[in-house]
Amino acid sequence: MILAQGKDLTAIPGPSIMPDRVLNAMHRPAPNIYGEDLINMTDTVYTDLSRVARTSAPAVIYIGNGHASWEAVLANMFNPGDHVLMLSTGRFVHMWAAMARQMGINVEIMEFGFHAAVDPNQVEERLASDITGTIRAVLTTQTDTASSVRNNIPDIAKAIEESGHPALFMVDCVASLACEPFEMDDWGVDVMLSACQKGLMTPPGLAFTWAGPRAVKEAIECKSSWWDWKPRIDPEIFYQRFCGTPPTHHLYGLREALTMILDEVGLENTWERHRRFAEAIWAAVDAWGGGLRLNITDPADRSTAVTAIHTGQGDGQRLREWCEANAGLSLGVGIVGPEGDPNSVFRIGHMGHLDPPMVLGALATIETGLAALHIPHHSGGVSAAAAVLAGSAAD
Ligand SMILES: *Cc1c(COP(=O)(O)O)cnc(C)c1O
Repeated sequence: MILAQGKDLTAIPGPSIMPDRVLNAMHRPAPNIYGEDLINMTDTVYTDLSRVARTSAPAVIYIGNGHASWEAVLANMFNPGDHVLMLSTGRFVHMWAAMARQMGINVEIMEFGFHAAVDPNQVEERLASDITGTIRAVLTTQTDTASSVRNNIPDIAKAIEESGHPALFMVDCVASLACEPFEMDDWGVDVMLSACQKGLMTPPGLAFTWAGPRAVKEAIECKSSWWDWKPRIDPEIFYQRFCGTPPTHHLYGLREALTMILDEVGLENTWERHRRFAEAIWAAVDAWGGGLRLNITDPADRSTAVTAIHTGQGDGQRLREWCEANAGLSLGVGIVGPEGDPNSVFRIGHMGHLDPPMVLGALATIETGLAALHIPHHSGGVSAAAAVLAGSAAD
């Protein structure tokens, strides 16, 4: 404990670190929810959410978390008995699938395991075999936050198109929005959903959906007035945008975060920063070696927002506990498939508001924990990461 007398660092895969500027923007008296200031500010938030998603589709905001955006999409797009194809590369699609089943939706899961990305060829084959056109939509995540797989969304979109099947394509970007490159319109994604507490650096509480023109045409008559996105997209009065009182302070916080990402740093630079930090972390794990290894072998399949790392038996848990108790560093718990041991995996969240002192500090602290616990490893992980950030690592 004597070492942890400073500013603690949370490196879990969401909620991510909130910039002081975001918190300060929220520190204000209650606004008049019928006043022009709030209404005009909120209009700019909607515009900028579509900029982050790279779409001309309007954003919808719900008061809620990522699960809320899952339910919003299901409630607006599917009737009980509709058939959907869900592509799983870890844990999160299974949770979304359970929610869909409870709503009476027919879920077919195509399983790709915990260690590799979706194979677009298998998706194309399955769709081509659906000659009666039963499958209404293909659903997946860009990043699965448990396995730290990054799926190739444009290739899956291409596979759907080349199959000639009319299924819609829906993507969960909760962990990846403003971390990974994502082009909703250019890639041909029909529905995208996300939330504010990961790449968007805002306290948990806002859920987002975007529906493109084909999805709007194929949406159902939503049976819930709370989930119905139509009045939220096209309100007669501002109050309908949130089906009640708006999340005033979250909106001010998100406004500040969007300004930082879009207008100060730039979205492409934000993607590039995430890629660099991710590569630095991968280099550190490779250099440590011993029982430590990355869950995803192929760099092309790795998320740039979160990294799952295997350790020797139980070492993941011991390391997390040491870092938290002795060094003020919180790491992500292991989430594994049926064959795995969660105590032998830990995750590093590297999404959002991060700079080299934070990333290198986290890695140096992990290296310190490895030494303190006598977990077999090579030193030099931090130097390997520094070389990546310096641009001097050998490719
Ligand atoms: C975090 C996350 C969710 C769930 O978000 P909650 O806010 O916890 O409901 C869904 N999908 C992915 C990919 C996530 O990373």
